[in-house]
Amino acid sequence: MSEPTVIPAEKTVEIRGERFRLFLDETAIQARVAEIGAEISHTYEGQVPILIGVLNGSFMFIADLMRAIDIPCEIDFWKLSSYGAEKVSSGRVHELKKIDADLEGRHIIIVEDIVDTGLSMQYILDRMQEHNPASIRVATLLHKHEATRVDVQLDYVGFRIPHLFVIGYGLDYGQQGRNLPEIYILDDA
Ligand code: 5GP
Repeated sequence: MSEPTVIPAEKTVEIRGERFRLFLDETAIQARVAEIGAEISHTYEGQVPILIGVLNGSFMFIADLMRAIDIPCEIDFWKLSSYGAEKVSSGRVHELKKIDADLEGRHIIIVEDIVDTGLSMQYILDRMQEHNPASIRVATLLHKHEATRVDVQLDYVGFRIPHLFVIGYGLDYGQQGRNLPEIYILDDA
């Protein structure tokens, strides 16, 4: 598992009045995505896995990851209402976009942008089991390992990062910042 590349803090962006500094550049991200893609291609040789992207944050990662996979594979998306941790514990989750594909007997790879407490992923995994798939693995670009409260299965982790708010490469701050090709971290200095 790769540790984040330490980058001098000269590059910053301002989103909605908050300053964020560069944390993972495009080269580092793309190199790691290529590694995960190669690993998935090797593991699923002879099978046709289906990538399930959890919207919205995973859209950029899943697009690059799919291009880094060189075996036949499929894609679908799932969108849940977002109430932070409450969306899991309160039972007030609802689906904003259902998965269209029939997942029974399929090899599923859930693709997430970030695992923080792990509660969202725990919920996602529980719901995925209801489809009776052949297998489920999880790919997350980022893992805030110090913040994770539940023991969730993470098969492919791009980078383990500190417990600080990040944006870019699909991740937002108030819906903005998703378009940044790099990952930035809240500049609390
Ligand atoms: P968890 O349920 O693991 O605590 O939270 C996972 C979700 O919280 C992610 O899918 C993401 O939507 C959001 N999240 C957690 N940490 C961050 C962060 O640092 N930046 C952004 N933009 N979203 C985050």
